[in-house]
Amino acid sequence: MLFTTAIAGSLPKPAWLAETEKLWPQWKAQGKELEQAKADATLLWIKAQEDAGLDVIGDGEQARQHFVHGFVEHVEGIDFTNKVKMGIRNNRYDAMVPQVVAPLKLKGRVHAFEAQLARAHTKKLLKFTLPGPMTIVDTVADRFYGDKVKMAMAFAELLNQEALALQADGVDIIQFDEPAFNVYMAEAADWGVKALERAAQGLTCKTAVHICYGYGIEANVKWKQTLGEEWRQYEQVFPALANSRIHQVSLECFHSHVPPELMALLKGKEVMVGVIDVASDAIETPEQVADTIGTALKYVPRDKLIACTNCGLAPMSREVAMAKLDALAKGAALARERYGA
Ligand SMILES: [Zn+2]
Repeated sequence: MLFTTAIAGSLPKPAWLAETEKLWPQWKAQGKELEQAKADATLLWIKAQEDAGLDVIGDGEQARQHFVHGFVEHVEGIDFTNKVKMGIRNNRYDAMVPQVVAPLKLKGRVHAFEAQLARAHTKKLLKFTLPGPMTIVDTVADRFYGDKVKMAMAFAELLNQEALALQADGVDIIQFDEPAFNVYMAEAADWGVKALERAAQGLTCKTAVHICYGYGIEANVKWKQTLGEEWRQYEQVFPALANSRIHQVSLECFHSHVPPELMALLKGKEVMVGVIDVASDAIETPEQVADTIGTALKYVPRDKLIACTNCGLAPMSREVAMAKLDALAKGAALARERYGA
């Protein structure tokens, strides 16, 4: 089928699971009760994605507090008790980050619970997201390795262990989220893509990378206003990705200032085109979604185009997110009518 649909990754957490409309929400329960709430929320969103008619289903990242620290919490060699303030994404905003203080090692499985749960409850293609090595390195403070690339490769090895286990759980697509690629473009092309390939080493399932301009939070909206008329960050990274073994690339399109012709740099790759804006509560019409797909079709072969959201929907309200899933599916269906013959 043409123009299959998927979300970038995260979905809002229900009010009974965690604080709503926040990027770093506090959980509402503890212990067993929290585990149950995470499982219930995961099932709720699987059902909502299926009801909307999406083709690729995710767990909506309901079991993790934040997309980076959800992984890092399971790594030995990191001091979580003494967090330090660090400017992240090239000082776009400050975050309290944990410190790497010893050799990195996985404590055990990271996402077995929610991956196995999701696999047991959907027959559709299942995508699972992990943070990319470069983005992790940009979200922790290094007090041990003394070298960014070395530390990234150490994280890539751990990501690879978890990715192989997720594949064994029955996950069909493993996606690494690398918003840092849009901030440190030269480094991304130089070693970021290599670290990504290390994280994906030996995987036989599909692999993907999501590169965005961040969630629709204020710091990001302000940052985007400084990027000028044309956002050409992808131009520096896409050629390296086109030469990589990663199968799919997720990018921002609708309402962004990314020149659409940059998509042509991803020759040979499946392209997850962002047709849903995550920085606005306005619900896209099917016509708008189909129009964006039409624009992308000038640069992406139609059998390689996947309709997707620009980024995760985590900080949005549940109603808006539900309506956007619906718009995504309806817009892709309209595009099939328009461009399918
Ligand atoms: Zn994103």
